[in-house]
Amino acid sequence: MDAEEKIDSDIIVIGGGAAGLMAAGKAAESGAKVLLLEKTDGCGKKILVSGKTRCNLTNSAELKNFISMYGNNGRFLFSAFHNYFRPELLDFLNNHGLATKVERGGRIFPVSDDAHDVVRVFKKYLSENNVQIKLNTKVNSIMIKDNAVCGVKTEHGNYHCKAVILATGGATWPATGSTGDGCKISASLGHNIVKLKPALVPLIAREQKLAQSMQGVSLRNVRATAFQGEAASIDSTLTPDCVYGRGEKKSPRSPVIESRFGEMLFTHFGLGGPIILLMSLAVVEALEKGPVSVLIDLKPALTREQLHRRLQSDLDKFSKRKISGIMKEYLPAKMIEPFIELTGIDKEKLAHQITAAERGKIVELFKALRFNIKSPLALEKAIVTAGGVALTEIDPRTMASRLITGLYFCGEVMDIDADTGGYNLQAAFSTGYVAGEKAAEYVIPSFKKTGSLRHKQR
Ligand SMILES: Cc1cc2nc3c(=O)[nH]c(=O)nc-3n(C[C@H](O)[C@H](O)[C@H](O)COP(=O)(O)OP(=O)(O)OC[C@H]3O[C@@H](n4cnc5c(N)ncnc54)[C@H](O)[C@@H]3O)c2cc1C
Repeated sequence: MDAEEKIDSDIIVIGGGAAGLMAAGKAAESGAKVLLLEKTDGCGKKILVSGKTRCNLTNSAELKNFISMYGNNGRFLFSAFHNYFRPELLDFLNNHGLATKVERGGRIFPVSDDAHDVVRVFKKYLSENNVQIKLNTKVNSIMIKDNAVCGVKTEHGNYHCKAVILATGGATWPATGSTGDGCKISASLGHNIVKLKPALVPLIAREQKLAQSMQGVSLRNVRATAFQGEAASIDSTLTPDCVYGRGEKKSPRSPVIESRFGEMLFTHFGLGGPIILLMSLAVVEALEKGPVSVLIDLKPALTREQLHRRLQSDLDKFSKRKISGIMKEYLPAKMIEPFIELTGIDKEKLAHQITAAERGKIVELFKALRFNIKSPLALEKAIVTAGGVALTEIDPRTMASRLITGLYFCGEVMDIDADTGGYNLQAAFSTGYVAGEKAAEYVIPSFKKTGSLRHKQR
């Protein structure tokens, strides 16, 4: 194609992820002539890896709790969710032959447990509404005339249009195509970009050798608490007995940053697993202020006194056993040696030789296995990008830019991120729907919300 060849369309959608697919389909269904430009060789690549390839589409939480999962920026979504929320999404999917089911924690998945089925629905939706798709087409910039959008520049030439929907996603998992292009393009148009940070990301510990020695151990029913401060300086009795984090009503008191109960794991570089991912953004933000540590309570169901009593009773009962043998009752096998080493007790010591002070050390370590956090893994490794196009510059009712006429945003390119549970995809679908509808309204002066589909009437 020569540099000035144009496929004239009303609306160009940049990016064929969850948000862009929904936006393109909705805009076309509303009567606009739509061209979707996707830089990789296929649409919906991130949908395919989502929910461990099962695609956690949304969540059954009620609206207020749902919104709280996006932190302070959740309020921005009220209007979009008012327009298009879970029931509408599930109806849409059902009407396209995709049945869904609710699982633990209100997570909603396709009954087939196959993310491919979700992408198939969107491909069908776009094809039914005559959306033109160009793959392997990277958009480099948006063309502006008189402060209004008039087209886009790609590596293969320019395309003209009346409106652009920017749906380029965040900057994580670059193999899926999300490499932060949308933020660069938006910044070049004068939009402010809230600093990009990794969210839902594993944490690198300074005690890497310790973590490595327990690599692969997955712990259930433990409490991880993030504190502002060096691990050695934290008073472990400050570990709360309730959850602090997004979606919770109460806020923690310093030095506690966040506290979660559930499942985690040790990796070769530090800490990972569900509760660590959930607290990671708070840790990333706290690291900007100073040192951060994570204390793991391995026995949150027991108080120190209860643990003392139980340990004493076991030491008495199995007095001829080695301490490492006793620990089998308390810890996964791979943790025993590193754990005993941390207490400073000789692992060959017999139960009846354990002193009261040593018993105290064991109990303290059960209640507070300490790690200093060096950093999160790199942004590319995070599940979600926090930060993005500043929400103050986007109209939440329309997803339109407040700076450039005819420019719309949707999905992760905006400064929106949420906890795990289906919230990120719902935000992408809902904002995509609104951006598609409102962009169509903008390019088709006679647009009626309930009304006619222009290109189908032609
Ligand atoms: C491993 C993993 C698992 C996840 N699991 C879940 C889950 O189960 N539930 C949930 O709610 N969320 C989940 N998420 C998050 C969720 O997938 C994303 O928030 C969501 O897909 C974002 O959609 P999006 O359309 O905004 O962006 P993306 O899906 O990132 O799509 C952006 C698209 O734009 C294209 N693009 C980028 N730049 C350009 C350019 N210059 N020109 C043309 N095209 C461009 C990209 O190639 C890409 O196709 C997961 C994320 C990851 C990484």
